[in-house]
Amino acid sequence: MFVVFTADDAVQSYTIDAVNQFLAHRQNPNGCAPKMTYFTSLNFTNYTLVTDWYVAGNEIADHTMTHVGDPPQDEIDGNLIALNALAGIPLKSIIGFRAPFLNFSVNTLKLLAAAGFTYDSSAPAAIPVTDPGTDAFWPYTLDNGMANDCLAVAGSCKGQPVLPGFWEIPMYAYFDERGPAGAHLMDPWLDGANGATKVNDTATLEYMKATFTAHYNGNRQPIGLYTHPIHLSTTYPGVNPSNSTINMINTFLDWAQVQQDVWIVSNEQLLAWVQNPVPTSQLDSVAALKCSTPQVDASQKICNGIPANENGLLSHCAFSDFPFFTCYGCPETEPTVGNPNPAQQVPDGQQARFRLPTNCSTPFWDPVAGKCLCTASDCAFTDNSRSIGVRPLTPLYLYLLFRA
Ligand SMILES: [Zn+2]
Repeated sequence: MFVVFTADDAVQSYTIDAVNQFLAHRQNPNGCAPKMTYFTSLNFTNYTLVTDWYVAGNEIADHTMTHVGDPPQDEIDGNLIALNALAGIPLKSIIGFRAPFLNFSVNTLKLLAAAGFTYDSSAPAAIPVTDPGTDAFWPYTLDNGMANDCLAVAGSCKGQPVLPGFWEIPMYAYFDERGPAGAHLMDPWLDGANGATKVNDTATLEYMKATFTAHYNGNRQPIGLYTHPIHLSTTYPGVNPSNSTINMINTFLDWAQVQQDVWIVSNEQLLAWVQNPVPTSQLDSVAALKCSTPQVDASQKICNGIPANENGLLSHCAFSDFPFFTCYGCPETEPTVGNPNPAQQVPDGQQARFRLPTNCSTPFWDPVAGKCLCTASDCAFTDNSRSIGVRPLTPLYLYLLFRA
């Protein structure tokens, strides 16, 4: 049974700390550290931490540039372009999308497929598994359209759109004692404030266990921990989750991991197994479930994987809205939806940083010297992903293309 762990929104040190308090001390049955999926937005994200989190083996996915629901293409593609330019994430590694506010439409799914994404994970699976009409489906392709519905406009997605080979990874709800009326999707530990019957973390833990067990004893559909880590941060000013909530989530994961064949995974890892399923006895051989990529010799590391800016190599991009650090050189202006990858700002007396090429993977790329630190066959890499930036020739795009 797979437990999918995801986080949404900005990547900051306090959100990474919040995730790590649940994952850093754990191992999957093969002895490797669990990985998770981070649905990242541009706003308030510290790009060097995205680089580090990706180099540690986690999945970086798209959550639009400025966190808008029912997003236009530029919001979806712009985030990809900025993550590639400023965090050095290969385009081919960014395969997943989650709609802000889970507000997606048939059009969103079409845009994602057209932009070369592999999957969406925004659809609520909120009918109990004990119900014959359950919609807690395993991930599926849209060869026959959506089996789940859109959250924003009821009835608008079922059966649509037909996108052969494009995947939906449903978001599996937990159900409290009220059944269909008591579905909890993201951050169920916060639902006490939303008028739910949950009165404390003990009650939340009980219904989370009950739903897990229904999956485990049923069709073994995955279950999800869909977090907004800022709500679980003990270091972000003004946010003080109770220790009992943090302990409750760890208790849940401890309890789940004691059961046989339970793996904590990213969406990407889950999908790799679904696309090429093997029996549990052979899970150790699944490449996507193995430990991280080959490690760079610590003495050779430039920026990637160095937690502190120990060599002064990171640039501080001091934009007023959301300052960030990057090893890939600051842009001259704040990235925007209209211009997600502005020209690089090169301080006097310095060289421009080299951005990730298509023939070197992030852990081995030296953006200062512009060279790949590993040329052995086990770190050979080619980013043969879609070309982003090919847009329909709308009047706005033409204006942006030809101005100045
Ligand atoms: Zn969000």
